[in-house]
Amino acid sequence: MAKDSLSQLRREVHAKLSELDRILKPAFEHEPVLPGVVTVSRHRCGNPGCACARQAKLHEAVRILIKFKDGYATRSLSEEEVRSFKPRADAYRRLRKARSDLGKWSKEVVGLLDQIERERRSLEGLSEEDRKRPLR
Ligand SMILES: [Zn+2]
Repeated sequence: MAKDSLSQLRREVHAKLSELDRILKPAFEHEPVLPGVVTVSRHRCGNPGCACARQAKLHEAVRILIKFKDGYATRSLSEEEVRSFKPRADAYRRLRKARSDLGKWSKEVVGLLDQIERERRSLEGLSEEDRKRPLR
């Protein structure tokens, strides 16, 4: 029983290794990064005669939300600016995702190591009295 579950746990650790390869891919990209998020905002301009007020056809603007140390800023982007900013913001998002996925990955692997430790525990050589005491 313990052997079955040990080899199952080892298979899971193996699978985790190949997952790590995929998670860390963005670390090997060369794209410059900018801590920001490019979004499309839809708004009404305020002109009561405009199509945005009469029909539900809102104006669209591409904006970037930039993260500064002391807070956020949003800027409207021209098409040319979108071409310049978006790849950097996308590369940033991939790098941040790698970071957060690695955090989850690491917790899961620690959990597997803990289970492997429990499966491989041996009380051989301990006194009768010590065998009754729970191990940490
Ligand atoms: Zn309008």
